[in-house]
Amino acid sequence: MTGDGTGRGERQHEGHGEGHAGAYGEGTRAVRAGLPEPVKYEPTLPGPVFAAHYHLPGEPTGPYTYGRDENPTWTLLERAIAELDAPGEPGARTVVFASGMAAISAVLFSQLSAGDAVVLPDDGYQALPLLRERLQAYGIEVRTAPTAGDAQLSVLDGARLLWLETPSNPGLDVCDIRRLAAGARARGALVAVDNTLATPLGQRPLELGADFCVASDTKGLTGHGDVLLGHVTCRDEELAAGVRRWRKVVGAIPGPMEAWLAHRSLATLQLRVDRQCATALALAEALAERPEVSGLRYPGLPGDPSHAVASGQMRRFGSVVSFALPDRARAERFLAGLRLVDDATSFGGLRSTAERRGRWGGDAVPEGFIRFSVGAEDARDLLADVLRALDEAS
Ligand code: PLP
Repeated sequence: MTGDGTGRGERQHEGHGEGHAGAYGEGTRAVRAGLPEPVKYEPTLPGPVFAAHYHLPGEPTGPYTYGRDENPTWTLLERAIAELDAPGEPGARTVVFASGMAAISAVLFSQLSAGDAVVLPDDGYQALPLLRERLQAYGIEVRTAPTAGDAQLSVLDGARLLWLETPSNPGLDVCDIRRLAAGARARGALVAVDNTLATPLGQRPLELGADFCVASDTKGLTGHGDVLLGHVTCRDEELAAGVRRWRKVVGAIPGPMEAWLAHRSLATLQLRVDRQCATALALAEALAERPEVSGLRYPGLPGDPSHAVASGQMRRFGSVVSFALPDRARAERFLAGLRLVDDATSFGGLRSTAERRGRWGGDAVPEGFIRFSVGAEDARDLLADVLRALDEAS
């Protein structure tokens, strides 16, 4: 196997492009992220490597020994994501996981021990309370506070880890990562940011002072609604090594096919998120005109309570718009009336989805609350579909 981009082929690619990566535009970096040096007759992006074990005579040293530890397809994807999360920083390291929850768990459980305290948001992804239970069962103190108003600062004293999710899912509140990271640093706490909603093209938490950038790549990063994946990126090699060790211990590894699909999808990341974010803003503006819509949230909307803080740290405002219709029945009629929007959970995909979030029971939202994920349809068609469905639901 030559030219697989992992240093075993005809040409070593260690450090490929890294000296210049920070100087290129985002689209260029997304298209080329993680690609190996060209090797004659080899594909641009080598295909997935399916291997449980590798030929390994003699001393069992890396880079590739056993399939739970490392895989060449992960290596390329990890380099690609690191280039996007931390452009121009060749020391940044990404570790990919089987899902966003696997990535989140890896940070929490590799960093925290009995007697430590962690600060979580109380309005984050609805599986966080499940993690809270587990953490507490292991003797870890869990404190919570809302994302809005940087309220987590007030419960930070003595904590070992501060966990932020901004924008928060599904309420779309935003906290000031720089301010919270500075507060954490002053208290000796580490900071992790769940960057799922923003994607690396929307926000770069490591540059804002975070130690861990964590994401569910099931959402916007892969963007096709067909892959579960997660990742953690760190600047600090030791922190990254701890997360990587956790993956090996727990075995929460992505399949090579999923990793390859994710890498393939990165090439269109900028195209997708630019289109989705532009249409999300147009949708939010249209919804703002509707009398039956309340609690409208989109950080890119100038009147949104999060807009000022979001503008200071986000490069794009995301594909998710949240709002409420007067009651559950109206929300259900609206969802049923949509023709271009699937009634489905998750977000960040090319095909628009929306759901009545209250149906899960895990979020503190009104019964008529809708989380709307804007896809890549023509904005005119999507807005017409939404406005028609709203009219028909009334
Ligand atoms: N973080 C956020 C903000 C999410 O919205 C989700 C899933 O919806 C996750 C993490 C978990 O990701 P996964 O479903 O890939 O495990």
